[in-house]
Amino acid sequence: MTGGGLGEFELIRRYFARAGARPGAGSTILGIGDDAAVLRLPAGHDLVAAVDTIVAGRHFLRGSDPRSIGHRALAVNLSDLAAMGAIPAWATLALTLPAADPDWLEGFAAGFFDLAREHGVELVGGDTTAGPLAISVQILGAVPAGEGLRRSGARPGDLIAVTGTLGDAGAGLEVARSPQRAHDAHARALLRHYEFPAPRVAFGRAVRGIASAAMDVSDGLAGDLAKLAAASGVAAAVDVERLPLSAALRATASPDQALDQALGGGDDYELVLAVAPAAASRLAAAAAGTATPVTVIGEFLAGEGVRWTRGGRSYVPARGGFDHFAGASTQFTD
Ligand code: ADP
Ligand code: MG
Repeated sequence: MTGGGLGEFELIRRYFARAGARPGAGSTILGIGDDAAVLRLPAGHDLVAAVDTIVAGRHFLRGSDPRSIGHRALAVNLSDLAAMGAIPAWATLALTLPAADPDWLEGFAAGFFDLAREHGVELVGGDTTAGPLAISVQILGAVPAGEGLRRSGARPGDLIAVTGTLGDAGAGLEVARSPQRAHDAHARALLRHYEFPAPRVAFGRAVRGIASAAMDVSDGLAGDLAKLAAASGVAAAVDVERLPLSAALRATASPDQALDQALGGGDDYELVLAVAPAAASRLAAAAAGTATPVTVIGEFLAGEGVRWTRGGRSYVPARGGFDHFAGASTQFTD
């Protein structure tokens, strides 16, 4: 690629071919520099793979802090592995860049590698090409054979539990769009949730054998819980008064706006789980052991669909889940 006199080879060498973290699971036989990477899983493990693409103007605002873009490109994938109860090990990175801007690359790589180190993820390959800004990260991880969590295991009578708080990232995106709000401490906390989500990797791993189903909440609980219920062939019943909302969200939004962000905002990267009542004490121990707040918000029932209530009355979320190809887009195209 061209731009700034920095060639593709030099760009990869300078920003991405770093001695990275040792992988959290498995071993790297051959990393960056050959035609492909060669990787070895620990004995008795299944390979868990996921890929996510983020595109400028669609998944992040143009002009976003490159450190946040690098962090989020990896975080969205780590969240998928967390939902499977997998241990992340390796990533590959496909970068499409309008220009080889050293300041942008420096920030992007810092955001990516800070999070990679935290989770023991080694970057073992990728592709670099010129074009409109888009980033694809593929993540590879390991799970003891047959023990991966799935969306399909929820049973009638299971509790519905969620990690952390919901709606902060959606509200944080609103702050990113009107930066004059960012002098307020609550608004800054929300913005931070959007820019630097913390995927629940340790917790996902800790609830293997405890949760009967799991999924990450990336597109808003309303749509994502409906997907989990459908995959399991059960119904879900949730009292929205039980949704965990942060002090920052409650301080900056009306009760209705806060609920709308919690159910339809997206980008939270928390986990939603099904847990049999008999496993509730083990769930609490996993939460305490990984310092993860967990809230029970309802239960799964026989049937289909999600029944939302608010103070005993039926409640209809303002937005469903996000679908890139549905007519009513809630995403931005600035
Ligand atoms: P090929 O032409 O064989 O696909 P490339 O010249 O594209 O190889 O890449 C050379 C090496 O650099 C490969 O090992 C590839 O995986 C790695 N690589 C390319 N781009 C990136 C990137 N953005 N991040 C990490 N590794 C990269
Ligand atoms: Mg290539």
